[in-house]
Amino acid sequence: MVSKNMEELVSLCKRRGFIFQSNEIYGGLQGIYDYGPLGVELKNNLKLSWWKSMIYERDDVEGLDASILTGKQVLKHSGHEDTFSDPLVDCKSCNHRFRADHHNDNKCPQCGSIDLTDPRPFNLMFKTAVGPVDDGSNYAYLRPETAQQIFTNFKNILDSTNKVVPFGIAQIGKAFRNEVTPGKFIFRVREFEQMELEFFVEPGKDETWHDYWVAQRYDWWVHQGIDPSNLKKLNVENSDLSHYSKATVDLMYEFPHGLEELEGIANRTDFDLGSHTKNQSDFKISAEVMENKDSTTKLAVQNSESKDWFIPYVIEPSAGVDRGVLALLNEAYREEKLENDNTRIVLALKPHLSPVKAAIIPLKRNNEELVNKARNIKKDLQSLGLGRVILENSGNIGKGYRRHDEIGTPICITVDFETLEDETVTIRNRDTMQQKRVSIKELIAEYQKIFE
Ligand code: ATP
Repeated sequence: MVSKNMEELVSLCKRRGFIFQSNEIYGGLQGIYDYGPLGVELKNNLKLSWWKSMIYERDDVEGLDASILTGKQVLKHSGHEDTFSDPLVDCKSCNHRFRADHHNDNKCPQCGSIDLTDPRPFNLMFKTAVGPVDDGSNYAYLRPETAQQIFTNFKNILDSTNKVVPFGIAQIGKAFRNEVTPGKFIFRVREFEQMELEFFVEPGKDETWHDYWVAQRYDWWVHQGIDPSNLKKLNVENSDLSHYSKATVDLMYEFPHGLEELEGIANRTDFDLGSHTKNQSDFKISAEVMENKDSTTKLAVQNSESKDWFIPYVIEPSAGVDRGVLALLNEAYREEKLENDNTRIVLALKPHLSPVKAAIIPLKRNNEELVNKARNIKKDLQSLGLGRVILENSGNIGKGYRRHDEIGTPICITVDFETLEDETVTIRNRDTMQQKRVSIKELIAEYQKIFE
C-alpha cells in the first residue's frame, strides 16, 4: 500500500533521523530542511545511482561540479534576470501572499476574499554581494538551476575531452529559488538539489533525442522503486513552457499531496549556448548568432563533413533530488499488520538506496566475544564498499529488527553464542521477516546477492 499521508512520512523522517526542519531551535527557516544521518545516506545513494547511470554506464557523458555563485552576466544572458519569476498576488483583507498561477479562482486561499492586488512578477533568484564592498554593482546570484554553468563550461569540456556531438554534461548540486509559497515538506523548498544532464545534439535530431531521454528517465525512476502506476508523462502545454523551451515532458508522480512534477525533460534548443556565445553585445537569437562567423570563441561546433559551424540543441532531463527522496520514501513506506495484531512499519527501499545496508547485532550487549565477532563481520562487509554497515550493540534483537525495518535496512545479521562455536550467524530478511542460518564464509556471497 502506498502511503497517502504526508504526516506519517514527516514523523518517520524526524523520529529516525532522515530529515529535520532547518534552524529548528530558533523556530525554523521556512522552506529549508536539513538531512540527518539516514537522510544524507539515502540522498547520497540516490545521487550515486543517477551518477552511475549517467556517467559510468555510458561513454557519451562527462561530469561537472561548477560553482553555485553565478555572475550576473550569465543569468542576464540566460534570460533568468528578466523572466525567472512567479506571479505574486497579495490579499488586501488578510495580507496573505500567494502565486496567482496556483489559484485560478481569483480568491484568497487563506480567507476566501476576492479583494486582491493584480499579479506582479516576483523574481525567484537570491542575490548576494561578492567582495567586501557592497556598492550594489558587484552582485552575483545563488544559481536557480545547475544548468547555466554547464553551458558556460561547454567549450572547456569540449576542448579538454574527446567528445563530439551528441554528448552530454551531467551535474548534481544545490539550486536556490526564493519560492513564494514553499511547502508540502521537501516538495517545494527554497534550497534544493538537482540532478541535471545537458545533452547536446545536432539540430533536427533533437526531437528523437528528446523522446529517447523521456523514456530513459522514466525507466530509471521505475528502477529506483517507483511503481509505474504512480508515474505519468505529461506534455507541458505551450503556454506553460519555460522561456527557453520548445517542448517539455514532465514526469509527474503521485505524491501524498497529489500528482506533481518530479522531473522535467526539456528541449532547450540552442537558446542557452546561442545566448552565451561570445562577441555578442546583446542577447540575440541563434540565427543572428550564427552570422557572427569570425568569432573564435562561440559556443558552437563544426560539422565533421561540411565543416559548417552550428550551435547544438540541448535536451535537458532535470530531476529534483529532494522530490526524489520524498517520492521514494512514499513508495517504500508500509504499515503491516502482524499475526499477533501488532503493526510494523517497513521502509521497503531498494537495497541500493537503503541508508544502512546491513546491521550486525550481537545477541548480548557488550559481551566482548560476541561484539568482537560482530565487529569483524562488519569490517568484512564494509570493505566491499556497497554502503554503510553498522554494528548495533543494543542487545535487544526485537527492537533492533523493528528499528531496521523502519529505516529500510535489507538484512540484520545476528551473532549469538552458537556463532562462537560453529561460525554461523542468523540472517533476517526485512521484507519476508524470514531467518536463516548461514556460515560466516557464505555471508559475503549472501550479502552481495541482495544487490543483484
Ligand atoms: P514547479 O513547476 O513544481 O515549480 P519547475 O517546473 O519550476 O517546478 P524545473 O525548473 O523544471 O521545475 O526544475 C527541475 C526540477 O527541479 C523539478 O522537476 C523539481 O524536481 C526540482 N525543483 C524545482 N523547484 C524546486 C523546489 N522549489 N523545491 C524542490 N525541488 C524543486
